[in-house]
Amino acid sequence: MLDQQKFSAKLLTWFKQERAHVPVPGRGQKDPYAVLVAEIMLQQTQVSTVWPYYRRWMETFPSISILAQAQLDQVLKIWEGLGYYSRARNLHKAAAYIMQEYAGELPRTAKKLIQIPGVGPYTAAAVASLAYNETVPLIDGNVLRVVSRLQQITEYISRAKTKAKILKDLKALISGEEPGLFNQSLMDLGRVICTPKAPKCHACPVSSMCQAYAAGDMLDYPVKPRKAPIPHYNIVIGLIQKSGEVLIQKRPANGLLGGLWEFPGGKIKVGESEGDALLREIKEETGLDVNIGEKIGSISHAYTHFKISMSAYYCIWKTGNPEIHAATENRWVAQKALNDYAFPKANLKILDLIAS
Ligand code: SF4
Repeated sequence: MLDQQKFSAKLLTWFKQERAHVPVPGRGQKDPYAVLVAEIMLQQTQVSTVWPYYRRWMETFPSISILAQAQLDQVLKIWEGLGYYSRARNLHKAAAYIMQEYAGELPRTAKKLIQIPGVGPYTAAAVASLAYNETVPLIDGNVLRVVSRLQQITEYISRAKTKAKILKDLKALISGEEPGLFNQSLMDLGRVICTPKAPKCHACPVSSMCQAYAAGDMLDYPVKPRKAPIPHYNIVIGLIQKSGEVLIQKRPANGLLGGLWEFPGGKIKVGESEGDALLREIKEETGLDVNIGEKIGSISHAYTHFKISMSAYYCIWKTGNPEIHAATENRWVAQKALNDYAFPKANLKILDLIAS
């Protein structure tokens, strides 16, 4: 077990000297709403990617009450391109809940924060410790990596039991006086020093206390089960044109890319041509008959659990009115108005092809 005082002192001294001046969205703030937004945006996402989104969000929705009153479409538009859209939907739901239960003011303890829709143990502990200085530890991927190396943890890091043990150890380690700064420092140590593939142990403030460093086997931790290969799908979509307008469809609110708009289309079956797949998918999703026109182009995109190659074609409407099947809404919009709608990244890449 690590010496609490020595570990805390080394970590906090390093952070104050080396890192405190480096801006990270929401960090160093005492506004709990700003911390909540930033911490949710920072999950699975690089700091440099988050900055423009965070600024735009705080300008558009500067308070919980303004966010609660906003339309979900506007919320998704501001989030467009940041990925993991359930985070945006949950923030919107959280704002309504906080207005109703707490008159717009975030509760001050992790125990109460975790009851808010979409707020998990990490976010609750981050807001409670960073904004309100509650002595509650947190774990994210960076913290897990650091601790697994410090203590040479040989159990799978993704197991609930392993995480519970790490959390228990951190409870004994966290600084009682500066818990927010302790959490921030540990996350930062993992992000910039104890990196996944090339830890900078020579610059690490706690290297003298690190078991993996002493053994020289840092890269063996954290221990993870072997990953299954990521599936790949071929997709084809159509920009169906009718009287100067294009058909877009809204995805169901829950699930992957929920609430976003997209062009009709879908997976190409084995042995099927792009044209046949497109006619079939458009018929299944909209009930429309179309003629396929010029090919716009193809793009590739990687989601978390699968990759796609997507081809897009202009299509000319022939007959029928769009029906509702998997989508929740159909809308004909002028091509120049497409920018007003929130689309998944793959559809945005197709729109970039058209614009270039
Ligand atoms: S000494 Fe190296 S492996 Fe250990 S915590 Fe520091 S950076 Fe990570």
